[in-house]
Amino acid sequence: MTPEQVLDYPFRHPPEPGTALEVAPGVFWLRMPLPFALDHINLWLLDDGEAVAIVDSGIGNDATRALWEQVFAAELGGRRVTRVFATHCHPDHAGLAGWLTRKFDAPFLVSQADYLTAHVWHDSAAGFTNENLIAFLAEHGLDEARLAGFRARGNHYRRNVQDLPTRYRRLMDGDAIAIGANVWRVIMGYGHAPEHAALYSERLGVLISGDMILPKISTNVAVSSVEPDADPLGLFLASIANYARLPADTLVLPSHGLPFRGLRERAEQLVEHHRLRLAELEEACATPKAAAEVIGTLFRRELDTHQTFFAMGETLAHLNYLVRAGTLARARGADGIVRYGRT
Ligand SMILES: [Zn+2]
Repeated sequence: MTPEQVLDYPFRHPPEPGTALEVAPGVFWLRMPLPFALDHINLWLLDDGEAVAIVDSGIGNDATRALWEQVFAAELGGRRVTRVFATHCHPDHAGLAGWLTRKFDAPFLVSQADYLTAHVWHDSAAGFTNENLIAFLAEHGLDEARLAGFRARGNHYRRNVQDLPTRYRRLMDGDAIAIGANVWRVIMGYGHAPEHAALYSERLGVLISGDMILPKISTNVAVSSVEPDADPLGLFLASIANYARLPADTLVLPSHGLPFRGLRERAEQLVEHHRLRLAELEEACATPKAAAEVIGTLFRRELDTHQTFFAMGETLAHLNYLVRAGTLARARGADGIVRYGRT
């Protein structure tokens, strides 16, 4: 069955750009555009007494800033912003965190791993250089024509996140944060971002799931060039099992797509999705293959450079999962290419 048949979507239409839609008492939905194939992100405003708290900020560009100005004028009516949360450090979530926190003199709340990673990506520090990325993709078999796209791309993060906050308040798993009349519990998740903070209000029966649970698309899980042996898929599957333990009628507010109920069903669909992908990859590696050779097993369409970045990371996440499971082994050939074959 498709997600449409299993999940319940209480709100069929997103709010108009620059307007807010109340989805639970004191919880408001904003939608902002993204200049990618994934063309939108959902952000959230939480009533905080006489003021509001913001959860995620949108990508750092003029279009999103202009829509925020519209929201301030039309929806906030001069109310203060008390806090700016980021579920995680990705550019569509933290892109305007610096601008918002400075504009309202509000603190920035994020996990420590994502605060530091945001700065590291922005500054190309700690090994996160374009040269390292290109060398990594080359050793996993990406051809020269596609590598050229990465050479031309440069620092994608810095282009979309111009000014990060330089102070923050650390979110930790299990934190209980009072926002207005409600207490929101931080539930950390792994595998998509270094340390992704979802927010759960038991009283409202609402989970702001960020990118950890999405209704339609599967969350990107990717191996990075600086942690080549990581198992982000294993981390992701363990994390969603954790979210699936919340009450079955929880209203899930995802960063992409529509709010929905059916958390457990969605978690089951995602587990099944990855199980099938793992089986296909195992099959494809009957003779040893480099990641770039099996990318088409998971992604059966033309990919631009941006999509190739995610697709290579995702393919490696599945391959590394199978290595951790003992099904595949990785070996570097005399040509310097890393290949995955059956054990
Ligand atoms: Zn993300």
